[in-house]
Amino acid sequence: MAKKGYHGKILWINLTDKTSQEEVINDEVYELFIGGYGLAAKIIYDRQKPGLSRFDPDNILAVMSGLLTNGRAAFNGRWILAGKSPLTGTWGDSNCGGDFAPAIKNAGYDGIFIVGKSQKPVYIVLNDKKVVFEDASHLWQKVDAVDTEEKLKQVHGADYKVICIGSSGENLSLISGVVNAKGRLAGRSGFGALMGSKNLKALCVKGTHLVEVHNADKVWKHTTDLLTDLVNNLNDFGKTMKNCGTAGTLTDSAESGDSPVKNWVGVGSKDFPPEVADKINAFEVTKYEREKYACYGCPFGCGGICEVPGKKLLKETHRPEYETLCGFGVQLLNDDVESIFMVNELCNRAGLDTISCATTVNWAFEAYEQKFIDSKTTGGLKLEWGNNETVVKLVEQMANNEGFGAMLKDGLREALIHLNLEDKAFTAMHVHGQELPMHDSRNKEGGLGLGVGYETEPTPGRHTSTFAGIDDYLEKEKKELALHSKVLNKFYQKLKFQPKYNLSYQSTDSEMGTSLKNASCGEDIINAMGLCNFGFYLGPLVPFVDWINATTGWDNSLDDYLLVGQRIKTIRHAFNLRENIDVPKIRMPERARGNPAMKDGPNAYSPNVLMWDDAKKAYFAAMEWDPETSIPLKATLDKLNLQEVKKEIYG
Ligand code: SF4
Repeated sequence: MAKKGYHGKILWINLTDKTSQEEVINDEVYELFIGGYGLAAKIIYDRQKPGLSRFDPDNILAVMSGLLTNGRAAFNGRWILAGKSPLTGTWGDSNCGGDFAPAIKNAGYDGIFIVGKSQKPVYIVLNDKKVVFEDASHLWQKVDAVDTEEKLKQVHGADYKVICIGSSGENLSLISGVVNAKGRLAGRSGFGALMGSKNLKALCVKGTHLVEVHNADKVWKHTTDLLTDLVNNLNDFGKTMKNCGTAGTLTDSAESGDSPVKNWVGVGSKDFPPEVADKINAFEVTKYEREKYACYGCPFGCGGICEVPGKKLLKETHRPEYETLCGFGVQLLNDDVESIFMVNELCNRAGLDTISCATTVNWAFEAYEQKFIDSKTTGGLKLEWGNNETVVKLVEQMANNEGFGAMLKDGLREALIHLNLEDKAFTAMHVHGQELPMHDSRNKEGGLGLGVGYETEPTPGRHTSTFAGIDDYLEKEKKELALHSKVLNKFYQKLKFQPKYNLSYQSTDSEMGTSLKNASCGEDIINAMGLCNFGFYLGPLVPFVDWINATTGWDNSLDDYLLVGQRIKTIRHAFNLRENIDVPKIRMPERARGNPAMKDGPNAYSPNVLMWDDAKKAYFAAMEWDPETSIPLKATLDKLNLQEVKKEIYG
């Protein structure tokens, strides 16, 4: 067995004729695309016809491990879904912790590519390269995702790892995800619906094909050094994460302007002041915690299993993450923590993406307040801010595809069509179909990078696409993203507004573009390695270059890997161009761009408002794409060795 950390093999499964086939992938492809969604992007770009409708059986659903999965690096347990998103029609991907990633590799593969459509509901059992298709009709529309995992383990053995869909995927809800570890979701991009459209309920996977790495001692040495560093030099974010996961960031985010409030029209400090936000803060959430846990391959462990007394459904439930607490708490002015636990569990069992679900629910509350819809439309539900009982009922309806919830279960873009409210699109907080997460692009602290990411990332609306920490590796001075103070001062003079922002540093467009490029390409490398983002935020530098080299035997530099990131980003972007998507025209709603300007709170008169378009052009230029059209330049495609893309674009 070659000692390189990966198998060099993928598995194709065709649900139409119930066949499977192994394919060997050249080493060169791994060196160019690494693994994870990098490898998936290469395979899908080459094999999938453009223009397929959202549920065409020819759509490929890739289920990937990362290059470092099952090796000796830390944080290596993310599994990744990739394909054409049924929600946005763009390239889509989504990743998740839990315990499924190593099972893919143990089964003998780096990724599983699923095509076709079964006539009847099935699930797949993959054990050491042997594939069996099993009838799933006793589970379909009958058993939720958490119980499905339990039942399948009872039948096939507890050593199987399971991913599956719940009612939302079966109902083809465009905001549904795929569930693992009894309630962790690969939530974004709507892949639950793609799996549901294929009549595929679950994948159960195990095996004994261990991967060997090139120099295990060296990988382990870097890992143990990192672990020591984590003990000694954990930053404040790391300490918070260790104690209470992302829930720990809630109160600060609510007050700093990072959390949107009331569908992006409210102000945290005014509408949901600290004394109220504290009712759902980390302490209030973790007091229900029974035990802590870590995803596979993670030495850190930010997860928590909780129990809410007196609630049968909440006897064993995941601690809600920041996105859920903000979306169903701060945003909705809901200070009832148990209702947020309930909504979280309902979403996890149905397989609903809590981000998209919360953003859609918030829109409905504003629509009710503004009288775009009334009680007749909502079936009597009173969508009043802070009404936690209504929130729970509405999410239940969305999960079960009933009542007013059936109008919302496909997310905002479809809801506007169902309700004949397309003229109210300015209130619908989505980008190209994907609902915005709980991080405000108008915020001075990193909001500009977030907003540019929401609009330019091949999977639109993603808050993890601008991994600013990559600049640390380049040993550049850490600077705030560029502020064009000359233009801004004029703007503020006109408004007679005294900004509190630090305008002392002005970067050039090129510096701003490079910073955005590094952030964005860094994220593609992380997703190709199969590592957890949080590992990179905890203080110590993660030795990923050494890990990859010692795992594979390659001898590449940080710059080489940044080039890999640029290559992966470019091929994902090219997928969208080939789908005839005019990327520069993808825009957040004007409200998220700061038009009209907020007059109160930390995001008042956001400086970002004047910079979006320049920042996007600077980013495209830094990516060596045409700054106006975003089409990758010929020379760029030559440099990145993307001849297949060059042929597609230039003939
Ligand atoms: S840091 Fe948290 S989310 Fe990331 S791998 Fe570890 S336990 Fe999972």
